[in-house]
Amino acid sequence: MPEKKEKFYLTTPIYYTNGLPHIGHTYTTVVADVIRRYKRMRGYDVVMTTGTDEHGVNVERAAKKAGVPESEFVAKMAEAWRALWDELGIPGDEFIRTTDITHVRTVQWLFKLCRENGYVYKGHYTGQYCIYDNAFVNDAKPGDNCPDCGRPLETVTEENYFFKLSSFQKPLLDFYKKNPDFIQPDTRRNEIISFVEGGLKDLSITRTTIRWGIPVPGEEPHVFYVWFDALTAYLSAVGGPEYEKRGYWPADLHLVGKDIIRFHTVYWPAFLMAAMLPVPKQVWAHGWFLMDAAKMSKSKGNVVLPRPIVNMLGMDALRYFLLRDVVFGQDGNFSYDALVTRYNSDLANGLGNLASRTLTMIEKYFGGIVPAADAAAEIQEGFWGDVKGLAQALAQSDQAVGSSVIWRYEKCNFSNALEAIWTLVALVDANLSSWKPWALAEYPGKRGILAAVLYNAAEALRFIAVLAHPVLPDSTAVLWKQLGQTGRLDDVRIDQLNWGQLKAGTTISRDKSLFPRVDKTEAIERIEAMANEELNPPKAAPAPAPSAPAAGASAAVAVAPTVSDKIGIEDFAKVEMRVGQIKTAERIVGADKLLKLTVDIGTEIRQICAGIAQYYEPESLIGRKVAVVVNLAPRKLRGVESNGMIVAASVGPEGRPVLTAFLEEVEVGARLK
Ligand SMILES: [Zn+2]
Repeated sequence: MPEKKEKFYLTTPIYYTNGLPHIGHTYTTVVADVIRRYKRMRGYDVVMTTGTDEHGVNVERAAKKAGVPESEFVAKMAEAWRALWDELGIPGDEFIRTTDITHVRTVQWLFKLCRENGYVYKGHYTGQYCIYDNAFVNDAKPGDNCPDCGRPLETVTEENYFFKLSSFQKPLLDFYKKNPDFIQPDTRRNEIISFVEGGLKDLSITRTTIRWGIPVPGEEPHVFYVWFDALTAYLSAVGGPEYEKRGYWPADLHLVGKDIIRFHTVYWPAFLMAAMLPVPKQVWAHGWFLMDAAKMSKSKGNVVLPRPIVNMLGMDALRYFLLRDVVFGQDGNFSYDALVTRYNSDLANGLGNLASRTLTMIEKYFGGIVPAADAAAEIQEGFWGDVKGLAQALAQSDQAVGSSVIWRYEKCNFSNALEAIWTLVALVDANLSSWKPWALAEYPGKRGILAAVLYNAAEALRFIAVLAHPVLPDSTAVLWKQLGQTGRLDDVRIDQLNWGQLKAGTTISRDKSLFPRVDKTEAIERIEAMANEELNPPKAAPAPAPSAPAAGASAAVAVAPTVSDKIGIEDFAKVEMRVGQIKTAERIVGADKLLKLTVDIGTEIRQICAGIAQYYEPESLIGRKVAVVVNLAPRKLRGVESNGMIVAASVGPEGRPVLTAFLEEVEVGARLK
């Protein structure tokens, strides 16, 4: 009989569908995935829910703008979100859409329960309303203008259903007291407690002015308003009214951004208490990733997208950075520079290099077979004793032990967990350097010590693969195979690691490097170029050669080459190429591959960046005539605006750029066809 597993249910927010996911949403979903993997490695039956919040006036408007029915608009959006999570390897086990019929039923059922229990009444809501946008503007005063369209607002009163939130002040405060871990981190708990102590006002939960929403049965045109609808999705995803059959409710953990913590820790438990349903066990609020110290937003144009980073460095690199660089719960700054620096130092030069060194030496000195460590007794007490001791301390499953990585995962202290695992990476690395296996290998009499050194290094790598697996699922699975381990790493129990389980005689392999080192400047340029393209999809077909060499050999993580179908002449005609003459050329501080050029294209002088600095002296370019793609959307390379692209051939494995030239005299501004 299979052992009955304990269930664990966690959720990301149900993301609002008026835009597409950026790194902030990706962060929350990655964290949920890390916890999911960690809990599975502890033997839990885990369900993680994510989804899309699809109702409300903003969606109504966006659909109108796109000229499609709301249902079509949200279906497309939901698909885009789902597809991105699939692509990034972080799909929800459940993906709930607030337009799903199971969700509609659940919201209506929850309302019915609250009403039957006496917590719902009909009242009047008075607010400032924009007739043009058909929307109330929260927090506006009489006489204000609409923040969306600038028209004057009107004071409008409408009939609403209200939820008696005011009745829950005491029950909520009692609940927080009894469940001190309900709101995390602690700073947020104190914030919420003082908010609730300040008194709670009843909450309007329906609208008659919004059309695109879940109808209140028998009370049309009332539809449910925002939170009563959206929050309930967590319950809908695991059975709704039949939640007991599936057995995942109450949720163990809701992960949310700090801006929506109040709704999750005040409204949501109050709705559930009113319906006499079980209340979630924990809500964890994380901080924001700031870009240049500002909150990322589409309107500020400082959005970081996940896909270009993943294409360049791999998903594990992004996951590692997001969890390592910022203490979970606090705000963090996002920069490509920090991302690539982390990648090179911790992953390429750290774990990647250690794995490659160890496996190469086992291959070289022991024919690719893990040697027995029997003769190791004499050195166990020395440096390798430290490694063993550290590895065992990190893998300690007693959750009270502070040095344990498991304890840190349990406390959502991801940054600290990774830091601890990397102390083991550093220690093994230092030991290899001081024991010098390559020197030991020269003395047949030291074969036993050599075997012990390499056995211990390989065994430490096995520990690292298991402990880091929740954060680095792909690369640790590769390492696991390289260490000759069979079975799925996901099925290994993270809390049952014992030193010495690596069997002597195991055949290792060394098929690929885990984290190829990248050239920082070039990696950032390529990520920025891809991000530009995704944010401003080019109207023209891709030009023949990019201005920055696209496939430098040092950027060893290849972007899948796009196989281009043949294009018609009308597609080619979309690319406007003209003869330009270079007026000035200078190097860009901090970007050793880029030149900043000004180019006369006949009608105007353009600033264009080109990735040719390693092959052309700036002075040699002045006056030169080149082919320029002039209708490329402007983009920023290393922070410098580039308005067009210089055409160059890409030669040899390093993609050395060779500029086009004209053998006959051509006029500046002449079109290339
Ligand atoms: Zn308006």
